[in-house]
Amino acid sequence: MADCLEGDCLKLKRNWIAKAKENPAYREILEIFERLIDLTESSIDQVRPYLKPIPLSAYVEEKFQQGMPLVDRMNFPVPNEPFDSLLDGFLNGLEGIGDSVDRDLERLKEKHRDGTISGQRLINQFVMGSETFLSHLFQIPDINHHLLFLTLRNIFKICLIPFQETLSDELATGWERGECPVCGFHPDMGVLRGEGGKLYLHCAICGHEWRFKRMACPFCGAELQKGLNYLQVEGDDIHRIHLCHFCKRYLKVVDERNLPEGTPLFLDLEELTTLHLDIIADQKGYAPGINV
Ligand SMILES: [Zn+2]
Ligand SMILES: [Zn+2]
Repeated sequence: MADCLEGDCLKLKRNWIAKAKENPAYREILEIFERLIDLTESSIDQVRPYLKPIPLSAYVEEKFQQGMPLVDRMNFPVPNEPFDSLLDGFLNGLEGIGDSVDRDLERLKEKHRDGTISGQRLINQFVMGSETFLSHLFQIPDINHHLLFLTLRNIFKICLIPFQETLSDELATGWERGECPVCGFHPDMGVLRGEGGKLYLHCAICGHEWRFKRMACPFCGAELQKGLNYLQVEGDDIHRIHLCHFCKRYLKVVDERNLPEGTPLFLDLEELTTLHLDIIADQKGYAPGINV
């Protein structure tokens, strides 16, 4: 499973956002998110010719079984041309949300023009690993981090579609790592699902979901029989924060079993609209698994 980028599920997603936007604290970020949904949906067809199916060679399959994600980071397939047109389209399409967003968009366009933000540079950072990639994004001072991160992440999501399609359930079964089997990034959310509450992780970049041991930390890999703890807000049995006492990082988790029946779950939106959980974890001295 991965985030919904096109098709019927987007209608449910837009309804979800319309409701969540009633909270003024999330209005602007959700407006950005909503625009990016529209832009992503309309861009997929435009770049479809570049999204070639990824053949699963015996070599890739063997590497995968040894714990390497499907994306070969040294040969990441984002040619500059579609990247530039996607980024142009996204930056122009986000205009008009508010003065501060417009100001940031102008700065980003300037950085795109002078080559600071380019497909090649982004790929180079991506190849070097998620931590470097994410911190690189934030080297533009005083920028709205979420605006930049969400915009670039959506471009990645589009480019990673062929890999999502390559990963069969059968192949994914043996994957036990805390990093995403598709792109190799860390999760930004977890979900407890099905009988007994099996834990699934949600990739911060491509949105892929994969099964993970419930009593382990996805960030440092420590077994948490003794160290696992979690926090919950009184009166909210849907959200919880898993804490790792070893690396002092936390994971926000949704208990899907406690959602009212028929409620759709969008983990990319849950991540954005559960800031109160980040504040609680921060106050207890825990850091997010990835810094967005
Ligand atoms: Zn991923
Ligand atoms: Zn840990």
